[in-house]
Amino acid sequence: MAEQTSGLPLAEALARLLQRFPGPLQSLGVERLPLPRALERVLAEPLLAPAAVPGFRAAVMDGYALRSADLAQHPRRQLPLLGCSTAGTPWPQPLERPGVVRIMTGAAVPEGADAVVPQELVTCRSLSDGSAAVVIEAAVRAGQWIRPIGEEATAGALLQKVGSLLGPVEIARAIGCGLREAVVQRRPRVALLISGSELRPAGEPLGPGQIHDSNGPLLAALLQRLGVALVERRWVDDDPTRLEQALLAMARRCDVLISTGGVSVGEGDHVRPLLERLGRLEFWRVLLKPGRPFACGELAGVAFFGLPGNPVSATVTFLQLVWPVLQQLEGREPRAWPRLRVRLREPLQRRAGRPELLRAQLESDGAGNAWARVCGAQGSARLGSLLGADLLLELNADTTSLPAGAAVMAQLLRQSLL
Ligand code: AMP
Ligand code: MG
Repeated sequence: MAEQTSGLPLAEALARLLQRFPGPLQSLGVERLPLPRALERVLAEPLLAPAAVPGFRAAVMDGYALRSADLAQHPRRQLPLLGCSTAGTPWPQPLERPGVVRIMTGAAVPEGADAVVPQELVTCRSLSDGSAAVVIEAAVRAGQWIRPIGEEATAGALLQKVGSLLGPVEIARAIGCGLREAVVQRRPRVALLISGSELRPAGEPLGPGQIHDSNGPLLAALLQRLGVALVERRWVDDDPTRLEQALLAMARRCDVLISTGGVSVGEGDHVRPLLERLGRLEFWRVLLKPGRPFACGELAGVAFFGLPGNPVSATVTFLQLVWPVLQQLEGREPRAWPRLRVRLREPLQRRAGRPELLRAQLESDGAGNAWARVCGAQGSARLGSLLGADLLLELNADTTSLPAGAAVMAQLLRQSLL
């Protein structure tokens, strides 16, 4: 039992890794990219607004621009229609006498005007001389329905600081503020080594005791979703010599090397001794279920993470320990998964021992309460326990049973869309 409960607590393991691998990785360098191509990249230089945006006072409604003072004494006074300002084609003359200028959303408000009245609040009249006039049917306040200069950004304003991740909004806003390019960090090159003599590639017939490799496709797809550049994926059997050759060859072509399998204490587990011999072991074993066998350190000058072979353990340790480091190496502040309190849909039974991250689906009821439905049996080989799992429920080592409705802290495995 003591053996089962040895290992570094998860928080401590993460803190050690973040300290061990500070970012951004200096050897990566930076590059200048057109903003539309910089999606999911991390800023190496700040984005500053070259000019105020909007650069002119813009109407927020379709209606009429006027001088509010003209209505101060006689609110229902008839005002002549003097011109029209549309988006992209401003009325060129200043408003210097009582009157209105027809104006569309996004059009420049003529100089002198200080309010826009929505067209729904205006009565139009055709006069006998062929001209037109309006009567305003509501009170007018100076500044109403006008977007001021610099509302989005003032000239020189910091739009995004170094370390920001560029998403659709950051990119659109920077372009909207007049920028064209961004200086971003180059991405760490990640290589994936799948080890295990029993593994066969997708669809290949299986011999006795063989299984199909799920970690390769799983981690490759996960890395792709997270915007990580996978430069090589290789399989090798549990032979120490071939494993050593593969590790050294791959380390020459990547910045971060991730392996799965062979990191425990069985006969075919060579990863940890190799890491100790060829590089430096930072620590081994995390006090976590799933995912205790986990080794990390440095190998031939690159960051190395040895994930367990069980697919669920590999996924959970990747999300808890490797993904934060990858973010930091690319110059980002590593963001922990958001935590929230959820309530259990069903009662829960488990064995005490290690802290556990239980896979569950998030559900919300009509009242907006968050509920967790555990994804069935929690075996670390059962990929089904990760199906649709958007929550990792945090259970203490000594928790053995919880009733339905019990409140539990959970990590939300969701990334921002915007
Ligand atoms: P190991 O960490 O090598 O002791 O492997 C633990 C368990 O995970 C064993 O049952 C392996 O067969 C299984 N396993 C290892 N690698 C993979 C993989 N790439 N895909 C699916 N299962 C694996
Ligand atoms: Mg193995």
